[in-house]
Amino acid sequence: MADLLALGLLGLLLLGAATLAAALVCATVAAGRALRRRPVPEPLPAAELPAPRLFVWLACHTPRCGHLETAHYPAGPGYVMCDQCGTHRRAPSS
Ligand SMILES: [Zn+2]
Repeated sequence: MADLLALGLLGLLLLGAATLAAALVCATVAAGRALRRRPVPEPLPAAELPAPRLFVWLACHTPRCGHLETAHYPAGPGYVMCDQCGTHRRAPSS
C-alpha cells in the first residue's frame, strides 16, 4: 500500500514537472513572437545645424593677439569681435 502511495506521488510530481516544462516552452515561444512583432522605431530626424556665422580675418593689433590675423565675428551693427581675445572694433568697410 505504501508503494502505491509513493508511486502515485511520484506520478503527480512528474505530471507537474511536465506541465511546468510545457508552460516554459509556451512562454518562450510567445515572448519570441511578441518581440518579433514589435515595430521598428522610426529613425530620429537629423538635427538641424545652426547657420554658420560669417567672420572676417583681420589683424587684431592687441598685446594678446599681436598683429596676427584672427577671426572676427559680427558683434552688433558695425562692429566685429576678435575670436581670440574678445576685443571689439569697427567692422571694416567692404
Ligand atoms: Zn584679438
